[in-house]
Amino acid sequence: MDLFTLPDFDGHEQVVFGHDAATGLRAVVAIHSTVLGPAAGGCRMWTYGSADEALTDALRLSRGMSYKNAMAELGLGGGKAVILGDSRRDKSPELFAAFGRLVDSLGGRYITAEDVGTTTGDMEQVARQTSFVSGLKRAAGEAGGDPGPKTALGVFLGIQAAVRFQLGCELDGLTVAVQGLGGVGRPLCRLLAAAGARLKVADARAALVEQVRDELGAVVVAPGAIAAEAADVLAPCALGAVLNEASIPRLRVRVVAGAANNQLAREADGYALMKAGILYAPDYVINAGGIISVAHEYRGGVSEAEVHADIEKIPGRLTVIFERARREGLPTSVVADRMARERLRAGPRG
Ligand code: NAD
Repeated sequence: MDLFTLPDFDGHEQVVFGHDAATGLRAVVAIHSTVLGPAAGGCRMWTYGSADEALTDALRLSRGMSYKNAMAELGLGGGKAVILGDSRRDKSPELFAAFGRLVDSLGGRYITAEDVGTTTGDMEQVARQTSFVSGLKRAAGEAGGDPGPKTALGVFLGIQAAVRFQLGCELDGLTVAVQGLGGVGRPLCRLLAAAGARLKVADARAALVEQVRDELGAVVVAPGAIAAEAADVLAPCALGAVLNEASIPRLRVRVVAGAANNQLAREADGYALMKAGILYAPDYVINAGGIISVAHEYRGGVSEAEVHADIEKIPGRLTVIFERARREGLPTSVVADRMARERLRAGPRG
């Protein structure tokens, strides 16, 4: 395998393979770019079929983090770590300590945090070995901690901006279909209901849907049907690749704006949404509330109010993208990628 000719290789600055015989750690750290600052991005633990698969994921996700961090104006570059293993079976404090030493060996070029398959508890173990880690448990009153509600706030403000741009109105009386009621979806539903939106909700976990139905009067929809529900807005807050060749022709909304990462299966799906007259809020711009919180927590000395003030910049960023997309006749997803690349090319003072 030739790393430099892989389709997902995108001029990454550094790719490090880590192995620790004593704990069985096998990890890949991909640093896509440090042009705007140290490369920040979470550590995923996943049952990859092979090291090649893990490498591909690290390459793809780290580039995504460069774009996300560039658009969130955090003074951070993009990186990602993946640990090969089953997060339910293969975890140990020693494994995460070994991972912490790997992160530390990079001297601050990469800052890690929790991600799919890892938790704040795992990051506590990492933090025993390195200071280049964020997303740790916080004491009451401290900024940071669980990024889910911060992501939900950014998504809520982003939905408001998308609705204003596309429909020229406020959320009061509109219907929002929310797919996924986890760490982001549930607090998002509360914000939407408080703004007067009607909710249609779905989750694979029955207890969650019942809770949101009882608390907020949401209409419950089967998980397989939510993406094709008639509503004003669809907010995907569960899985990636929900916007694809099969689902887009079935959409019955004017706006898609939600937290899920990698919502578009392919770049072509951004064009399909545009042709269907559906406004898409690029996922990594609207869902940046969590990384904004994590970045401030890492640097320290910032209050919750300052974190919120930064999250409140998300709707303005989206509106700039919507306007440019309209002007240039391009999908919002393509415009967001172009803007992110422009920022990376321009560098820290760009
Ligand atoms: P979560 O795991 O807490 O919740 C996801 C929910 O989706 C779960 O309740 C799950 O049962 C449900 N689900 C799974 N498959 C489903 C399906 N087919 N239909 C309906 N529901 C389904 O995750 P989260 O933290 O709420 O994150 C949601 C999405 O947002 C993920 O894609 C995540 O990567 C992305 N995201 C999260 C954050 C954050 O701060 N947590 C930040 C950025 C992006």
